[in-house]
Amino acid sequence: MSKPKVGVFSFASCEGCQLQLLNIEEELLDLLGRIEIVNFREAMDEKRDDYAVALVEGSIVTETDAEEVRKIRGNAAFLVTIGACAVTTGLNGMRNSVAAREAWKRVYPDRDFDPNVAPEVRRVSEVVKVDFEIPGCPIDRGELLYVLTTLLQGQVPRLPATPVCDECRRAGNPCLLDRGIYCFGSITRSGCRAICPAYGESCCGCRGLLPGAPIEELIEILDKKGYSREEVIVRMNQFNSRDDQVKPLTGELGRLRKEVAA
Ligand code: SF4
Ligand code: SF4
Repeated sequence: MSKPKVGVFSFASCEGCQLQLLNIEEELLDLLGRIEIVNFREAMDEKRDDYAVALVEGSIVTETDAEEVRKIRGNAAFLVTIGACAVTTGLNGMRNSVAAREAWKRVYPDRDFDPNVAPEVRRVSEVVKVDFEIPGCPIDRGELLYVLTTLLQGQVPRLPATPVCDECRRAGNPCLLDRGIYCFGSITRSGCRAICPAYGESCCGCRGLLPGAPIEELIEILDKKGYSREEVIVRMNQFNSRDDQVKPLTGELGRLRKEVAA
């Protein structure tokens, strides 16, 4: 039986999630015995379009990106997005806080606007149908391996649908909120073993928000710790500006700022 053919593709990102794929070392050798990689710019020169599975990293930031990801979708029977940039737009989404032309002017003050730049930075799922998403910045190697091996067995992988706080408490980490430091663990999808709070850093929501996340409750708690509503919303926009739960809050912020400026 022929091995499933896989293509790995990258759009706007630091390409760190592709590196995670290369970094699974021993397991990668085993995996390579069961799949055939036919397109992977970071690792090989060959570029074929006969892949059945596409792993897609990065956000869609230009019209060319959108065209390209539609082509990839057309070729692949199964499309998996890998990493925050592809799944939530990650840090790239912060560009959406201003119009594309304004963002361009700030970064390239001396160059004419490139009309290929899309009006908004989009998640891959906003442009094409996505069959499975592996979140995180970067993705977790173990989770990537689990998803790929489960798919190869013809089964549907399942990722945790609990908050980061669950993993954090199980690990016995002291809660950052108790120290007056902001943390989005209660509203963020787990699966990273609460790696940031384990090292004393705040969870900033890189794995995306849980549906029905208790956002207002968290805003209230953080208000008592000295974080203004505005600051919390700005921080939520860092990784989750495209989340439907965050968008109305961002709109509220925009209105408030206009009122202050008027
Ligand atoms: S440190 Fe963050 S992730 Fe850990 S329990 Fe506290 S709020 Fe949750
Ligand atoms: S703790 Fe939060 S920010 Fe850190 S890796 Fe996990 S989800 Fe991402």
